[in-house]
Amino acid sequence: MLKIAFIAHDRKKEEMVNFVIAYEHVFVPHQLYSTGTTGTRIMEQTKLNIHRFRSGPLGGDQQIGALVADNEMDLIVFLRDPLMAQPHEPDIIALLRLCDVQGIPVATNIATAELLVKALERGDFAWRELVHKYKPEETQ
Ligand code: PGA
Repeated sequence: MLKIAFIAHDRKKEEMVNFVIAYEHVFVPHQLYSTGTTGTRIMEQTKLNIHRFRSGPLGGDQQIGALVADNEMDLIVFLRDPLMAQPHEPDIIALLRLCDVQGIPVATNIATAELLVKALERGDFAWRELVHKYKPEETQ
């Protein structure tokens, strides 16, 4: 079971909901997280149970970032709006930076999200189980 997070900016929420509906069967066995509104929208349209953090502008990205910093999160689908300034831009950059620090797969557009979910379905994320198994004690 992996930990997967969903974040979508407002004009990307519909795309996110449609994406999660399409691959609901792939996400079912995993532990799911999201920012507040994104999670609400997904749960309204699917049977998935999602742990919702705060809304993005109110700190949700940073809460997900805390799990990333501990190398706990295994996959992030973060549908960003590249054409709209976000009040919490520093939080977004910080989250993506932490993904790069830990080498955590993160999709920031739907094309990459599709490829990663197909890889997940195929079992290509098994290496993340090893990351958890052999995580050095000081990071646990
Ligand atoms: P939200 O947060 O899911 O609460 O809308 C996402 C964002 O806009 O960063």
